[in-house]
Amino acid sequence: NAPKTDAESRRSVRVESLPLTHPERIVYPDAGIRKGEVAEYYRAVSAWLLPELIDRPLSLLRCPHGIADACFFQKHYNGSFGRDVHPVALEESGGRADYVYVRDLDGVLALVQMNTIEFHPWGARRKAPDKPDRMVFDLDPAEGIAWSELKRAAREVRDRLAELGLESWVRLSGGKGVHVVVPIRPGPQWSEVKDFCEAFADAMSTQSPLHYVATASKAARKGRIFIDWLRNTRGATSVAGWSLRARAGAPVAMPLRWDEFSRSGSSTDFDLPKAVRRAARLRSDPWEGFAESRQRLPGR
Ligand code: ATP
Ligand code: MN
Ligand code: MN
Repeated sequence: NAPKTDAESRRSVRVESLPLTHPERIVYPDAGIRKGEVAEYYRAVSAWLLPELIDRPLSLLRCPHGIADACFFQKHYNGSFGRDVHPVALEESGGRADYVYVRDLDGVLALVQMNTIEFHPWGARRKAPDKPDRMVFDLDPAEGIAWSELKRAAREVRDRLAELGLESWVRLSGGKGVHVVVPIRPGPQWSEVKDFCEAFADAMSTQSPLHYVATASKAARKGRIFIDWLRNTRGATSVAGWSLRARAGAPVAMPLRWDEFSRSGSSTDFDLPKAVRRAARLRSDPWEGFAESRQRLPGR
């Protein structure tokens, strides 16, 4: 076989289970990445991605005309995703509504076919939506905060959690910040988890008010790192590890070992091709122990 030119390999799409329409359509104009390559990406990293999102209600960020045009969040099932995407009926403020979940790669690819770029799972499984099984501290830096400062903040979150007997894992958001994620044994209600996270963020900002803030107001965040604990409420989501982000350069939300994180240079260290190489090279799970963790909230 003659080696393929770049243009040829970009056009070749081998998505077996699904007739992907318009694989040639440009999704990332800046990086020249097409819809077919987005599908290929999700297939290439699926062994790492799927455990992050299967069997959880999902919010989807869909970009029908690519990331440079309007994108929208969708959380409700609308019956148009085909047989590999499933509804889960959940209580919400207006009554019951169907949310979306998937069980496998075919489900992920069916959502990519509908121009989903980002995958945002709940912190609870569909069969126990009222029992969170993870907490997320979403560190959002104000303009001008150095990456080294954000790394210090994430490690401080880790160390403070460890003092409370909680092990945590870290991921680059692929945007501006970092997520410190704490798996917990299902049991506590959302309200307890939210209260814990709020108190944790409050304590951190009270002790270091020059560095941290725990309130969402833009003015208070100036020059500081917002310890965003609001991800820890029923219906809130955070981006899945290995999800692409709908931002210039096709960055990826990336789970790291803490020692890798210490050497990281920014939240966007991993773009699509780098994430594919990482997925292929990884010998062990950077989040080893996360799925098996059975830790409890302090005092539970
Ligand atoms: P960054 O590092 O740039 O902050 P992020 O993914 O952490 O990236 P945030 O704005 O801090 O972005 O939001 C945290 C999480 O909240 C997101 O990952 C997403 O799951 C959810 N989220 C944010 N905005 C929305 C929205 N408009 N609709 C639904 N979910 C959202
Ligand atoms: Mn954030
Ligand atoms: Mn946030």
